[in-house]
Amino acid sequence: MLARIISGKEIAEEMRAALVPEIEKLKQAGITPGLSVVLVGENPASQVYVRMKGKACEKAGIHSDTIKLPTETSEEELLELIDRLNADTAVHGILVQLPLPKQINEQRVLRRVRPDKDVDGFHPENVGKVAIGDPTGFRPATPYGVQQMLLRSGVEIEGSHVVIVGRSNIVGRPMASLLLQKDKGGNATVTVCHSRTKNLPSVTRSADILIAAIGKARFVTGDMIRPGAVVIDVGVNRVNDPTAEKGYRLVGDVDFEGAKGVASAITPVPGGVGPMTITMLLYNTVQATRQWAD
Ligand code: NDP
Repeated sequence: MLARIISGKEIAEEMRAALVPEIEKLKQAGITPGLSVVLVGENPASQVYVRMKGKACEKAGIHSDTIKLPTETSEEELLELIDRLNADTAVHGILVQLPLPKQINEQRVLRRVRPDKDVDGFHPENVGKVAIGDPTGFRPATPYGVQQMLLRSGVEIEGSHVVIVGRSNIVGRPMASLLLQKDKGGNATVTVCHSRTKNLPSVTRSADILIAAIGKARFVTGDMIRPGAVVIDVGVNRVNDPTAEKGYRLVGDVDFEGAKGVASAITPVPGGVGPMTITMLLYNTVQATRQWAD
């Protein structure tokens, strides 16, 4: 069997195109969606992500503003900036790019963002809302994107056994919350694995849908996948490749070559979950703006 490729890139393009008229409608009602992205320091990967988010906003018609602060910024200074953005009526969504420099307490910063502008969905209020299935909560962009990919590529979620490898607050845990919900895109039986899980391959082999969010290049091998399972690869890892222009290339947490002969469908890296994450950030920004239009 050769797995069907679930192209996040294509689904993301369709979803972004569908958002444009919605944004147009808000503009006609006098509100231009506005997203402020805060970047502290010089992390090269963060700089790339922030640039990609800015470009995607611009293309969709969302006003986006990137505020760059030096590495030595104090927590106090960052909190003051967030207070200003919280109060700014032209800013509907606030995103603080992680990771933050070590002198800044990440949780304190995430809690300072107004929950109704927290388009990343990391404020405890939104985490709680998502956990109890309250649709006014912002769903974190990556798991929200994975859920949309599954839905839009016709994968049966309801009743399926989903195994998620990874329990981070950004991916694994909210992914479990979304797929557990008693609603469309939910109703799955969910198992969450992590570094202390015993006999991981036997658990992953019991999955109808296997979601890898580990952060280790090609960790999930073909023999860890049940024949016919759907495999979603969230991982983004750099591996050295002297033949590549930059000297490295991006690979997922799944050994794509080994997995594609076993799975029934699989997401590629790049071009899989990544574009969906940015798309769902745009959706969350529009959701945040709509609150002010009603
Ligand atoms: P974290 O490092 O926060 O979490 C990794 C998780 O994997 C942890 O729960 C950890 O377990 C688990 N893990 C690590 N080693 C093993 C192992 N040997 N066996 C089983 N579980 C293990 O990573 P993130 O969730 O932030 O990100 C995961 C991946 O997804 C990364 O590659 C990241 O780059 C990528 N990513 C991609 C995005 C996209 O848009 N495409 C967005 C966000 C992330 P424990 O909790 O026990 O330590």
